[in-house]
Amino acid sequence: MVFEPRPMANDRHSAIRPLRRGYLARLTAGFVAFALAVAPLSAQAQENSEKKGPRLLRDTEIEQLLRDYARPVLRAAGLEKQNIQVSIINDPSFNAFVADGRRIFVNYGALMQSTTPNQLIGVLAHETGHLAGGHLSKLRSQLAQAQTQMIVAMLLGVGAMVAGGGRNSGSTNAGLAAIAGPQEMIRRNLLSYQRQQEENADRAGVRFLNATGQSAKGMYETFRRFTDESLFSSRGADPYLQSHPMPADRVAALEALAKTSPYWDKKDDPALQRRHDMMRAKTSGFMERPETVYRRYPLSDTSLPARYARAISTYLHGDPRSAQAQIETLIQTEPRNPYFYELKGQALLEGGKPNDAIAPLRKAVELSHRAPLIEMLLGQALVATDNKAYANEAISILKAALVRETEAPLGYAQLAMAYGRRGEYAEADLASAQAAYLRGDSKTARALAARAKTRFAVGTPGWVKADDIVSTKHLSDKN
Ligand SMILES: [Zn+2]
Repeated sequence: MVFEPRPMANDRHSAIRPLRRGYLARLTAGFVAFALAVAPLSAQAQENSEKKGPRLLRDTEIEQLLRDYARPVLRAAGLEKQNIQVSIINDPSFNAFVADGRRIFVNYGALMQSTTPNQLIGVLAHETGHLAGGHLSKLRSQLAQAQTQMIVAMLLGVGAMVAGGGRNSGSTNAGLAAIAGPQEMIRRNLLSYQRQQEENADRAGVRFLNATGQSAKGMYETFRRFTDESLFSSRGADPYLQSHPMPADRVAALEALAKTSPYWDKKDDPALQRRHDMMRAKTSGFMERPETVYRRYPLSDTSLPARYARAISTYLHGDPRSAQAQIETLIQTEPRNPYFYELKGQALLEGGKPNDAIAPLRKAVELSHRAPLIEMLLGQALVATDNKAYANEAISILKAALVRETEAPLGYAQLAMAYGRRGEYAEADLASAQAAYLRGDSKTARALAARAKTRFAVGTPGWVKADDIVSTKHLSDKN
């Protein structure tokens, strides 16, 4: 599991993910060496490069599971051709929402709080209901309409004030009332519109679940939980509740509808439940404090998920040797599981042993059928060895991975390092610019691309790519 944007050496948010000192030193060394090689950017550009966009969690195992959850539902909704992505946000609260008509965002808190696949699939089905209904664009036009109404109301209110005459007649209050009245009405209209959309998304979600032979019980269980008074106070901060008002009658309507399904009592496939448990264990191990991990997964629990969570927590917070030993027992239990080799390699790499990380990461790449994010980790290990002989291989692996995984700034960042090692500073600048671009950092992207242009011959493919970045407007819209 890695973070996007990648934490930099002087990441002020490092509390979110405790970095090992060895890794930090290596990362800093690599960064400094690279920065010296290509001449440091201005302080302003460096500061920009540290600005954080929405911080996503990237993980092949979890993303694969979420894709498997979403695929049948999206197909039932007629959206299978839209290339809808499910992205994980680095946030412990419960939330899920859709954006730009092609992405479903889920907080890792929602992953942790969904104890069954069916509960999470229910949330995805509801969000797919919003996507299928085009609710986002409809809400926008509704808002635009409300704004117009608001302006009209204001003009009427001002008119009333003016018509009311003198400042001593008390008409000022009447004027304000005339403004406040319609505004309140418009606000209520919007709320009822939003509520109607929620009910539509519920109904569409249940329809998609029925069409795929799945129960809507998990969706009901999740939403029911949010109406629970005792949870309300403690979960008051959950953004999902703010965007998803859960009046009791809405949840009751959902329950009634869901229970009519012949699949209401259908249980999750045990194999899927097992993957779900592994996903939650991994998330806990990476994201939660050791105390929390060991409370969820006490030593007495010898299940695979519990051992997975503890092994991850040990690699991040404990003794590296113990972590490696724990990961070895995972591999012995499932010698064909690519993610155990990925974990082994990542732990070695971040523990400052990139040479040792290469073999397990090669194995992980092979067993995962060349998952691009794992290839990027292998590329990172190759670059981190400081062995110039590995730079060529790193470049070809990273370039191939970036063809299939086009939105991973970390891939470009590693590519930049690899080019730096070969002394190809034009390519290094271009790759750094692409990384900055994908992080949503337009200033740094433009500065680096401009410098790359001066290093490429005019009109070459690299020059053209750099020129594209220099001349792209509104880079900040991209995230
Ligand atoms: Zn909703």
